[in-house]
Parts: sequence; structure tokens; C-alpha cells
Amino acid sequence: MSKLSTDPDRRGHFGPYGGMYVPETLMFPLEELTREYFRARRDPAFRKQLLYYLREYVGRPTPLYFAERMTQELGTARFYLKREDLCHTGAHKINNSMGQVLLARRMGKERIIAETGAGQHGVATATAAAMFGMECVIYMGEMDMQRQALNVFRMQSLGATVVGVTAGQRTLKEAISEAMRDWVTNVRHTHYVLGSALGAHPYPLMVRDFQSVIGREARRQILKKEGRLPTHLIACVGGGSNAIGLFHPFLNDREVKMIGVEAGGFGPKSGLHAARFATRNGGKVGILQGTKTFVLQDRDGQIKLTHSVSAGLDYAAVGPEHSLLRDMGRAEYTYVNDTDAVFGFDRLCQLEGILPALETAHAFAYVFRNARRFGKDDLVVMNLSGRGDKDVQQVAAWKAEQATKSRKAG
Ligand SMILES: *Cc1c(COP(=O)(O)O)cnc(C)c1O
Repeated sequence: MSKLSTDPDRRGHFGPYGGMYVPETLMFPLEELTREYFRARRDPAFRKQLLYYLREYVGRPTPLYFAERMTQELGTARFYLKREDLCHTGAHKINNSMGQVLLARRMGKERIIAETGAGQHGVATATAAAMFGMECVIYMGEMDMQRQALNVFRMQSLGATVVGVTAGQRTLKEAISEAMRDWVTNVRHTHYVLGSALGAHPYPLMVRDFQSVIGREARRQILKKEGRLPTHLIACVGGGSNAIGLFHPFLNDREVKMIGVEAGGFGPKSGLHAARFATRNGGKVGILQGTKTFVLQDRDGQIKLTHSVSAGLDYAAVGPEHSLLRDMGRAEYTYVNDTDAVFGFDRLCQLEGILPALETAHAFAYVFRNARRFGKDDLVVMNLSGRGDKDVQQVAAWKAEQATKSRKAG
């Protein structure tokens, strides 16, 4: 079988998806960034510098941990966990922030801006900016600022200015629009660090490249530990950066199955979810914030309201490369609802002594609920994208609400 072409075309198309669907004013910054990124990508000195900071500062390589009790309990496959939760700042996001901040320095930009939803990408970017002594502005919806006060405090402590966005739903989508506006105005000395494999070219490619360190390490580690490739890779999918980072180095290993888990919220029937690939009430092909991909929209193309217990999965569009992998049948996508995600959170805590992020808990819930789909010769690598300390209040509130509901029902 022919080798999968893993890079998009010159305009950033992954098959029919991706591209650069932006107003004229954004074309110049995007073209400059594309040019500079391709130069950096080929430059061994840049790659060496990035590896240095990933090792010395981020704490890479992260372990590929054999989950002994989980394996025993489920009694089906052997499960390994790629421990991105052990990265500095607690999630995979810093792999991308570090790469982009280094690129900005190389381009001579002194000011860093970013959007953030739950605040994890804002914290990772503010961290890299602080380490290099750069000015940093983070755009965040006002609703999210209330929900994620702890992360606002962390970003401010790191020296970043957090700008509240009051437009629309006052969440991630509006924060991205505001960051793009700032970028167009200040592009001469500003770089915009986008936080997932989303948006216009070159972001989906660039973010995927920076996150692919996850899959490259995992591939090496599993070969060393087990002497063979995994049968399955499993990751949660928000914008899709941790998943594509794990999947990408295995794309041409056709025998390796890939499963992406989206946020099912209250379930596809309710319409309150972020399962872009769900067959019922899922997304349709459209354009959101510069890229063509699966988007949750109504019949008039209005973007739908989304819901998930985990803020990091709560977005109406998915990275364009995932849309292509889905069409080709190279990866399979499924979803897990809020209730199961909290179950996944509890189960991993109790079985392995690891508090996962609620985003990550979706991937684990899928496995806990579908253990019988795996056989005893299967070897499963799961991406543990982040730690759950940030979510303990959210989980506690969710449980309190459930308890109240069941008291009323009883
Ligand atoms: C942001 C986040 C995600 C979702 O983003 P992707 O780009 O889909 O990876 C998943 N897990 C954690 C821990 C996050 O912080």
C-alpha cells in the first residue's frame, strides 16, 4: 500500500480540509509565519534548541508507564500510559507553546499573545514567555475567567496580562477572534501562539509537528519495552493536538488502530455536546476560524452552542487533519458523555493513583466502558494528556449536583 502523504499541500489542505480561509489582512502574517516555520523546521540548530528546552525545562521524555493494575482489572489487553501529565505545567500543551515561542524569538518577535479556554494553554504560553522574558497577553472569555479563576491567577503570577473577552458566549471561540484581531494590528513585533491543531495554515501542521514528540517517544519506548508496535492508540480529542501528536508518527503503520474520543456532554440527542464526528446531531463540513473541517452548526451555518464537563474539549470545530483521517478510515472517532468521563476520572485515580484531567478522563472512560473490545494479545497506548488538579473543584461540584438530583428523584 502506498505511503500516506502526511503533510498538507502548499495552502495547508489535508485532502478537502484545512486551508487558509481568512480575510486579506490575515494573509500577510500567515504567509510570513509559514515561510519562517518551514525554514525553522529544516534547520538542525532550531531542532536542537527545541530538544534542549524540552529535555531540560519541560522534563521530556515523559515515561511510557505500564498500567499494571488497570491491565489486571480489565483483564483484556496490556495498557501503557504516555505520561504527558508529568510535563512542566501539567499537560502536553507546553510542547507546542515552547516550540512556538522559540520560533517567535527566531523571527525577532518580542511580544507573545495567545487565546485560552480552560486556561491550560494560557498557562503553558505564559510560562514559556516568562522563561524567555517576553511580554505576554492572553485573551480569555469572561465566562471562562470566572470558571477558571485559579488559572487566571497562575497566568498573572507568571507576568502575563489576561484580557477578558465580553463578546458572544464569552468563551474560547470569542477569545480566538480577539487574539486574531490583536495579531493583525501588532504583527510586526507580535507572534500569536495558537493552542491546538486548529485554525488557518500553518497552525494545524505546526502544532501537530510540535506535539509529535509524544508519538515519536512512545514509538521508541514501546518497541524497547515490548519489542513490537502497539495494536491501539487512544487519546481524547478537543482541537485534536494531543491525539494527532500521538497518532502521527504511527500513520504509516497500518496495523496500528487509532481511536479519538470526543466530548459527548449530555449526549448527542440533547444537542449539548462537542462530538463533531457523532453521526447523530454531529458536525457538518464548514469553515470556522480559518479552517475547513467538521463543525457543529445549524442548518443556516450558525455555530451551535457546545457543552462538556471539561472545558478543554468544549469547541465547535475539530482539527482538519482529524477530518481527513476519519474520511480515510485511518482513525476512528467516538464520544463519551459527562457522567462517564467523571467515572473515568474516579477509576483511574483508584486504580493507578493518577488524577487525570477531565479531558483525559474521556479517553479512559471509553476504555473502562469498552474493555471487552480488546483481546489478550492487544497492546494499547493511551495518551494521559494532563493531570487533574485543575479539575478537582469541577468534579466536586458535579458530584454535589448529582447527589442533589438523586435525592430529589428519590
Ligand atoms: C487542552 C487539553 C486537551 C484538549 O486539547 P487537544 O488539542 O485536543 O489536545 C486535552 N487534554 C488536556 C489535559 C488539555 O489541557
